Amino acid sequence: MTATIKANDQCFCGSGRKFKRCHKTSFDPIRPGTVGPLREVPDGIDLPPYVTEGEVIRRPEPAVKSPDVIERMRRTAADAAKVLALTGAAAEPGVTTDELDRICHEATVGLGAYPSPRLYGEPPFPKSICSSLNEVICHGIPDDRELRDGDILNLDVTIFREGVHGDTNRTFLIGEVDPESKRLVRVTLECLERAIETVKPGAPFNGIGSAIQSHAEAAGFGVVRAFVGHGIGEQFHTDIHIPHYYEPRLTTTMEPGMTFTIEPMITVGAYDHQVWDDGWTAVTIDRKRTAQFEHTILVTDDGAEVLTAWPD
Ligand SMILES: [Zn+2]
Repeated sequence: MTATIKANDQCFCGSGRKFKRCHKTSFDPIRPGTVGPLREVPDGIDLPPYVTEGEVIRRPEPAVKSPDVIERMRRTAADAAKVLALTGAAAEPGVTTDELDRICHEATVGLGAYPSPRLYGEPPFPKSICSSLNEVICHGIPDDRELRDGDILNLDVTIFREGVHGDTNRTFLIGEVDPESKRLVRVTLECLERAIETVKPGAPFNGIGSAIQSHAEAAGFGVVRAFVGHGIGEQFHTDIHIPHYYEPRLTTTMEPGMTFTIEPMITVGAYDHQVWDDGWTAVTIDRKRTAQFEHTILVTDDGAEVLTAWPD
């Protein structure tokens, strides 16, 4: 529930009906739904090591990528952005998150890539995209819930091709969304944009969190601490950790050729979380809404290149 609208108030959408008889259903708590079977990956698609090995084994990986790795990451990340755009274009009231998973999966394998979330981690993630609705912070599992008019939906796409990953996410407005949620989504995107502006050689990594936290808190919102940006390349997650809040001790600096994600998760209320029994779905502790946007970033000689720039 938003603080500003009560059950018997007129709905924000202008229908003239009471909120409780109109858009309130999109504020019902998200519950676990039925998760469909794992989607098949056709022969000929290169599988990441965690699929063939059955577990995530961390390997040493240079923080500064070779020109060859960067070229491959440019291509893979650009296609991750394409998959996200076309999956998001299908997100509308009545569509299930499992249908969006199908669209993402088929687009990904159609581009000759592997959907990185599939079978990643422990327990192995059972689907090809993360779909996180309303109070779900991240790592929501697609299921048979139909999108409702008034929802906000984060879709997080990562794909693996040419031996490298590209990772990007956006929060989409489903139908007519209340003003507070729209403001949350707008401010969260602004947080990502301001964070990217801090990226350049010699800049401290803690400038990213500083830019995000100051903008979010000025708007009255919270910054999730428990999930952070990460190094990315030949592995989905490398040992670079990028908090989205100001961490004074994180004074290490950026160098040209580094690649990492920035992915602020911003909350209307408290930033603490709980994880469902599925081992993945992270929700805000107060069940208030949260939004997220993410890019894969390359540090260039004089700033940042957004490798997952959205085509639209
Ligand atoms: Zn309404």
